Amino acid sequence: MPEWQQGGYDGVFYLGKEGTEEYGGYVVKVDSEPNPEKWFAYEYNAEKRTTVWVGWAPTREAAQTAVKGEFLCEVWRNKETGHCPFPGAVVRSKDYRGELLRMVLCGEHSGVMDGWQTHRIEEFRARFGLLPDVAVYGERAVPALDLPPIREAALKAETIMERNMWIALNRAVRPLAEFRYWWGHFAKYPMEVNMMEWRSRRLAWQQAQEHAQGMYAVYRREEHGEENASLPNDLLRLIERETVDYLRTRKEGGK
Ligand SMILES: [Zn+2]
Repeated sequence: MPEWQQGGYDGVFYLGKEGTEEYGGYVVKVDSEPNPEKWFAYEYNAEKRTTVWVGWAPTREAAQTAVKGEFLCEVWRNKETGHCPFPGAVVRSKDYRGELLRMVLCGEHSGVMDGWQTHRIEEFRARFGLLPDVAVYGERAVPALDLPPIREAALKAETIMERNMWIALNRAVRPLAEFRYWWGHFAKYPMEVNMMEWRSRRLAWQQAQEHAQGMYAVYRREEHGEENASLPNDLLRLIERETVDYLRTRKEGGK
């Protein structure tokens, strides 16, 4: 992970070293005493070899969060699962009494806020600027889940049935990540071809989920004598947690 380092003077900071693979962009102080301090953030896109403005903030630290920022969906789901943890795909916004209200949304939630304008997240950032999490009311809440990683649980399994159950859960992670990715992509680019991809990924995820459900039911029946057990919410959340990690590492890997 690249680190922030000071540039030639104290009003500019770079994320990583310019000209290297890890370089991410910079923040620069554009105003100071007697005016309120103001920092602009610019992000470097290695693929396009361009640097774009992505936001501003009253402090250097806040402006730095905008560079290579992680924008997660801001929908509150419920007490048990907290805020939606999936990557934002679009921003929906509305002018309200001279103020721009906005919300970052994943593919699944891209339809909420009826009547608001829809922008692709990249476009919105370049036009209005965007800092991660500033619009979430209160703090982003993702209740803790007291379960070890699936791979670890599989290694510690005491029986074949239990181990197979964990393996089936593990095999559901990637299909869910692909499905979520395409859901976001379809929300950004609502075209027939993307809808077809989204549908086929949805099917793959449903099949993986059914398989996990089946293996869980077998495990509960064989080991605990419980009939027709259904996958508990905690295990679904565990798959979700690993899916979010998977999506994050894939993004860092440059894909
Ligand atoms: Zn969402």
